[in-house]
Amino acid sequence: MEARTAAIVLAAGRGSRMKSKIQKQYLLLKGKPVLYYSLKAFEESFIDEIILVTGEEEIEYCRKEIVEKYGFTKVSHIVTGGKERYHSVFCGLQALTDCDYVFIHDGARPFVTEQILERAYETVQKEHACVVGMPVKDTIKLADENGFAKETPRRDLLWMIQTPQVFSYALVKTAYASFLEREQELLAQGIKMTDDAMVVETFTDTGIRLVEGSYENIKITTPEDLRIAEALL
Ligand code: C5P
Repeated sequence: MEARTAAIVLAAGRGSRMKSKIQKQYLLLKGKPVLYYSLKAFEESFIDEIILVTGEEEIEYCRKEIVEKYGFTKVSHIVTGGKERYHSVFCGLQALTDCDYVFIHDGARPFVTEQILERAYETVQKEHACVVGMPVKDTIKLADENGFAKETPRRDLLWMIQTPQVFSYALVKTAYASFLEREQELLAQGIKMTDDAMVVETFTDTGIRLVEGSYENIKITTPEDLRIAEALL
């Protein structure tokens, strides 16, 4: 039997870095919300089902002005997210029932392509866990608390990580459940899970394969990103 694939598209963040009242995933790019482009990539791909995770107050807007308006028939649920990105991911994971592989994607990354999704799908079927990213072009320094360069990691081993992050459903759900049981303890140690791979790295023995994304697969975070996105479109 064919494996069943689902995407969790995250659009519940507040986005304080954008300095705008409108959250970054709803800002308009050529007249359409950023989130429209992210959903469209999954709608037009081989993915079977999409779970959209959003803020409680945005559910109706998303249903009427995005999902219904553009006919995104693969969106099976629109669910409310949580305070942190990882809470929103867990809300999405809980909304899924029949799923073999799950693609977790930032709604604020509108330039994901079918080729990227295919590369990740091929990899996750072999490795159970993979994340999309790109080798860094700049030298990266690790700073100390006083703003001095402390260390310079080898550039040829450094990747900047994007989404989608793709996992066997059972693996990532179990990892998230273990993490959320110990969330407070980890926070008290100053450990914050900033991506899904970090949760799987910390709570399972499965290696996370890196898959090439694209330098255009940017996340709309600051006003400059919006200008770059317009140029890319
Ligand atoms: O804030 P950040 O850039 O990490 O957000 C990445 C993605 O996660 C965005 O698409 C945002 O909408 C989503 N997010 C979420 N729930 C949160 C925080 C972020 O769905 N609590």
